[in-house]
Amino acid sequence: MSHTAVSAASLASKARVAPKFTRAGARGCAHSRSSAVKVTAAKGDVLLEVKDLTAKVAETGEEILTGVTLTIKEGETHAIMGKNGSGKSTFTKVLVGHPSYEVTGGTATFRGQDLFAMEPEERARTGLFLSFQSPIEVPGVSNTDFLRMMCNERRKSRGEPELDPLEFYGFLTPKLEQLNMDPSFLARNVNEGFSGGEKKRNEILQLAVMESEMSILDEIDSGLDVDALRDVAAAVNVLKEGDKGLLLITHYQRLLDAIHPDFVHVMQKGKIVQTGDVSIAAKLEEGGFEALTAK
Ligand code: ADP
Ligand code: MG
Repeated sequence: MSHTAVSAASLASKARVAPKFTRAGARGCAHSRSSAVKVTAAKGDVLLEVKDLTAKVAETGEEILTGVTLTIKEGETHAIMGKNGSGKSTFTKVLVGHPSYEVTGGTATFRGQDLFAMEPEERARTGLFLSFQSPIEVPGVSNTDFLRMMCNERRKSRGEPELDPLEFYGFLTPKLEQLNMDPSFLARNVNEGFSGGEKKRNEILQLAVMESEMSILDEIDSGLDVDALRDVAAAVNVLKEGDKGLLLITHYQRLLDAIHPDFVHVMQKGKIVQTGDVSIAAKLEEGGFEALTAK
């Protein structure tokens, strides 16, 4: 189970359902940060700093990450591109503490705190939030109830009062407007019968509700048609507001055209082999990964 799995699973068990896939959703929804986290960060402070990170598959011992180095500051959007199997998803999962992987070397800090010294749930509490490639369906639980449970779990852990349905609606409504989502969305069961684009926008709504300090979106653009992609890209841009950090994993330039990342990294065989601006994505589109890395 992933770190977020812990909270999502406990929520799901309360709701007497089992999620098909666990996610990193259960984190705080208020503005204040964990007491363990620096609250006086100025703009431009480092959010995530990863150095020479190596990791293997726990079960097989196969080394997947071979030395990832990456720094993300407040307000920055980074994209990682790379062939299938280059280690992009593994990187995101190692950061949030997925138990399938074992860190074998290197360091990772979030707001200066050692990520690997923290339990997966604590990582979420500090504000690092991963959106999975395959969003869960939770039959029998309405979207509003699910979002409010996640939000209130987080508030409880911080000693804050829970929001009742009315208060939560007041909290949620402006977010729906920002994301251009129909309120009828909320009454539906979590992800049940959602189109691809609706699922992805629902993921983004969850990130917005949790007010994640840094969101990692793994292929949020996969399987979307052009219209859905436009909606999702607009929603992702909402997550960039303020000093939020964003890490996007994508195969395609089309998402990046709409989101304008500050940095684009190319991952190959478990490490970042090139970093540049968005023009890297255009080169990839023309010549493939070989065009970039054959130098
Ligand atoms: P990407 O997201 O870039 O497509 P992944 O991180 O999913 O790549 O996978 C990188 C490599 O690690 C692949 O060869 C994949 O098969 C392997 N891998 C990832 N997770 C596991 C796992 N839990 N067990 C075995 N192999 C894995
Ligand atoms: Mg992947």
